[in-house]
Amino acid sequence: MTRVFSGVKPTGHLTLGNYLGAMRRWTEVDQHRSDAVFCIVDLHALTVDHDPARVRRLSRQGATLLLASGLDPELCTVFLQSHVDEHTRLSYLLECVATDGEMRRMIQYKEKAVRERERGGSVRLSLLTYPVLMAADILAYGADEVPVGDDQAQHVELARDLAVRFNQRYGHTFVVPKVTSPRVAARVMNLQDPTSKMGKSDDSGPGIVYLLDEPDVVRKKVMRAVTDSGQDVVYDREQRPGVTNLLDVLAACTDGNPESLAGVYRSYGALKKDTAEAVVEVLRPVQERHRELCADPAYVEGVLRDGAEKARAMARPTVDTAYRAIGL
Ligand code: ADP
Repeated sequence: MTRVFSGVKPTGHLTLGNYLGAMRRWTEVDQHRSDAVFCIVDLHALTVDHDPARVRRLSRQGATLLLASGLDPELCTVFLQSHVDEHTRLSYLLECVATDGEMRRMIQYKEKAVRERERGGSVRLSLLTYPVLMAADILAYGADEVPVGDDQAQHVELARDLAVRFNQRYGHTFVVPKVTSPRVAARVMNLQDPTSKMGKSDDSGPGIVYLLDEPDVVRKKVMRAVTDSGQDVVYDREQRPGVTNLLDVLAACTDGNPESLAGVYRSYGALKKDTAEAVVEVLRPVQERHRELCADPAYVEGVLRDGAEKARAMARPTVDTAYRAIGL
C-alpha cells in the first residue's frame, strides 16, 4: 500500500492556505487510499524565535484542527514529531550526507534568514538544517508520496536527493519519495499582498484567513482583498495576481475550474462575495467539529499518544537499518 507522509508546523494559527494546499487532500483522498501518516512537526517551530508556551498550545491546537478537518485516527496516524525520537536520530545521519551549499540554496532559508536579520535577530543553525530534519521526517516512514503545497516542493526534492545519495553510497535503505500538490490552490496568496503566499507565521492579519476565523471575519477579509487595476475578471497569475488568487480559492472551495469561473463574473464585487461565501461554507464543518473536540481534550491527547506509538513502530526499523548501513 502506498505510504503517505506530511506535516504542519505549529508556528501560528492554521490558515486557508494550509487547508486548501494540503490538509483537505489528506482528509478527502490520502487517508482513504493509502497508509497515511500526519504529523505536527513541532521541532520545526524552534527554528525561529519562539515562545515555549505558545508552541505547546499551537501544537495541541494544530492536532485538534487536523482531526476537526476530518483526519480519522482509525484510518491514519496522527502524532507530534517530538514524541518520536526517530526523526532526530535520522536527521543527524542525513546531515552527514547533505552539503552546506545545498542547504544555503533553499529558498525558504534565504527568505527567512533575511527576515530574521532584518528584525535584528540572529539566524538559528536549525533554520539552515531544517530541510534535513524534514527529509528525515519523510524518509523515516518510507513515504512514497508527500502531499504538500508547492512552497514545500523544493524541500521534498531535497529529501529525494538525499535518499538517492544515501542509497547509492550505503546500499538501498530509503524509499525515494515524490511530491503531490493540488491542481488548484497549490499556493494560496496573501489577500493583501497577492504576490506573497498566505503564510501562518507572517502575522499580517487582514491578508490571512485562519481556519478558526468567524464567518463575518472571513467575509470582511475576502471583501477587502486587494484586486488589480482593470474591471474584467481574467485568470492571469502574472498580470492579475489578486483576482487570480480569488478565482483559485473559489475554484478550490467549489471543486470548479478557475479559468472557466473567470468567464462567469463581470465584476470583482460579485467574485469576492461568492468567494467569501464559499470559504465560509468550507470552514463551517471544520469549525463545528473543532468546537466539539475542544470539549474533549483527553480524546485528542489519547489520539496523539496512540499515534506516536504507531509512528515509532513504523519508523524504527528503517532508522535502525540506516544506522547499520552507515557503519554504526
Ligand atoms: P506555513 O508555516 O507556511 O503555513 P507549513 O509548513 O506548516 O507552512 O505548511 C503545512 C502545509 O501547508 C504544507 O504542505 C504547505 O505546503 C502548505 N501550505 C502552507 N501555506 C500554503 C499556502 N499559502 N498555499 C498552499 N499551501 C500552503
